[in-house]
Amino acid sequence: MTREEAYRELSIRMPGRVFLREPMDRHTSMGVGGAADCLAFPRGIEEVRDTAVFLLREGIPFLPLGNGTNLIVRERGYRGVFLSLRDLDGMELREEGGMPVLTAGAGAPLSRAVRFTVANALAGLEFCAGIPGTVGGAIRMNAGAWGMEIKDVIRSLRFLNGSATVRTEVRERLPFRYRALDLPAGTVILEGDFSLARGDERAVREQVEGFLERRRQRHPLEHPSAGSIFRNPPEGPAGLLIDRAGLKGLRVGGAAVSEKHGNFIVNDGGAGAEDVIALMRLVRERVSRETGILLEPEVKIVGEDGWEPL
Ligand SMILES: Cc1cc2nc3c(=O)[nH]c(=O)nc-3n(C[C@H](O)[C@H](O)[C@H](O)COP(=O)(O)OP(=O)(O)OC[C@H]3O[C@@H](n4cnc5c(N)ncnc54)[C@H](O)[C@@H]3O)c2cc1C
Repeated sequence: MTREEAYRELSIRMPGRVFLREPMDRHTSMGVGGAADCLAFPRGIEEVRDTAVFLLREGIPFLPLGNGTNLIVRERGYRGVFLSLRDLDGMELREEGGMPVLTAGAGAPLSRAVRFTVANALAGLEFCAGIPGTVGGAIRMNAGAWGMEIKDVIRSLRFLNGSATVRTEVRERLPFRYRALDLPAGTVILEGDFSLARGDERAVREQVEGFLERRRQRHPLEHPSAGSIFRNPPEGPAGLLIDRAGLKGLRVGGAAVSEKHGNFIVNDGGAGAEDVIALMRLVRERVSRETGILLEPEVKIVGEDGWEPL
């Protein structure tokens, strides 16, 4: 089967939920990026698995897509399939050993998971308030804030391994590290179980509101971005290094280093993916020249050309 035939076959299997040559600026928070050959929205675990089996058999690359809030697709696009987990968005609460456990689908927005825990007076996910990703994206990125990370609350997760078999793994056996869970290529996270604690509704709500307010004060939420663009090196916050190098306000085309937070690149004037990447290189070069520290991207850069370091 040619690629075009395979994509047509996918469209027949998932009518109305497969988009060909789909511009990815519509599906990423930075609002930049070229077209993916195909973007598919499978419904439910079975359909994700069937689609992965089909793509593996046809030798077509695929990548899971959450909310696209930590993702840049290069201008020349992605020659493969983005599998959006958007429709795996169930949420269920149960007790285990007398403690509350929340099972959330990979496509569920973190914001909804946070609201759900507030409404049920459950503590544990407050730090996720304001992180605009999905549950699956947050697990894959080991998202974190205010000294907490997903690895501190996850109990186990279900995923498709590289041969499209559903597996469950407990936290202790998962290789979490700073802003990453190292999973073999082709792994698709399907859902996660989170260990929570019974809390006081007012206290949980106040903490969530406090975190949201701190974000409004510190982050340039008025412009499209992908959050922190570089990982914090051991020497300190990347934003501080960028600020000290005098790079706030530096621009390439429509992309600018935020004046409000040095580790945010914002799209404030019709930027393209290549503007953002060129600006990342420039920032990296200047910080390296000033401090000898080489910043590593936190954001995932995918598509034709990928990310070549300096
Ligand atoms: C304004 C703003 C603030 C932010 N603040 C924070 C913050 O405080 N802390 C923080 O950690 N991050 C932050 N981020 C970054 C981002 O929101 C997180 O990394 C988030 O977890 C990404 O989730 P996503 O669903 O958008 O993933 P995507 O961007 O869609 O994907 C990111 C990566 O995860 C992979 N992926 C996505 N879903 C799955 C899945 N189901 N299975 C396997 N792999 C998957 C993708 O292939 C990609 O490699 C911020 C971003 C913005 C725009």
